[in-house]
Amino acid sequence: MEYVVSDLTSIEKRVLERELGMSDGYVLNFTDQSFADFFQDFGVEINNPKYSANGTSKAKRMRSFWQIDDNTLVLQALEIIVKHWQELQRYNSSSLAPSTAFIQILQRLREQKQVAKKVEIANSGISRDNERVFMEEAISQARLCKSELGRISPKVGAVIVKDGLIVASAYRGEVNPGEHAEFTLLEKKLKHEILTGSTLFTTLEPCIARNPPKIPCADRIIERRIGRVVIGILDPNPKITGRGFRQLQGHGIEVGIFDHDLANVIEELNREFTREQETTQSH
Ligand SMILES: [Zn+2]
Repeated sequence: MEYVVSDLTSIEKRVLERELGMSDGYVLNFTDQSFADFFQDFGVEINNPKYSANGTSKAKRMRSFWQIDDNTLVLQALEIIVKHWQELQRYNSSSLAPSTAFIQILQRLREQKQVAKKVEIANSGISRDNERVFMEEAISQARLCKSELGRISPKVGAVIVKDGLIVASAYRGEVNPGEHAEFTLLEKKLKHEILTGSTLFTTLEPCIARNPPKIPCADRIIERRIGRVVIGILDPNPKITGRGFRQLQGHGIEVGIFDHDLANVIEELNREFTREQETTQSH
């Protein structure tokens, strides 16, 4: 795992200080022994002198910990504390519970860890084996879609990868309701980025027809000179199934498909939409 020195902001530190009751040198209700044991659980020797450079109180060592160590370790510490709180709540209806601000710190660190993991995988060699990560990322994006008012809309996620790294990702309706994932990605997020030769992972076959003045996503993909498109599932509307695929291929773009099991996940995610489209006559 890439080493990322803890980058807690001063506001985040203040939240932690408050939540962990660190005003008088204490940290929660830890004794010296339970404090040491707590850190031992994830391999940190908190009695190491390097944590006592600014003082030996538990609070001071805690501050040194998140100053010296990386985000992965800080995240582990916070995860254990939250689990501990949850157990207390379950067994003796304690009022101890993390605040929203605390949870937000946790989420930020979790996301950062995921990104670091992806970068690590991508850096370990740009091979087709790594592409599953990008397919999975596109699916995670698709899951973020909310259904639009009064209709069953598809859940679509898209990811642009260049030189083995994710440049950006987007999902349908992320910026405005109904906006296609590829549109949000290419026109809203990466309008000024050079995408020549990059790879687009999209959970749904790109569209080829839209009511003017809207431009079909396939045209945008061609225009941006994307080199390769990897598609999750074909458009379920029988009138247009496969046409996006063929149009991209016809313009010299290499077109691939998601791993079979991941395609099944997308099918499942869009079951209602697919059922409706299969029986519809209009697009
Ligand atoms: Zn589209």
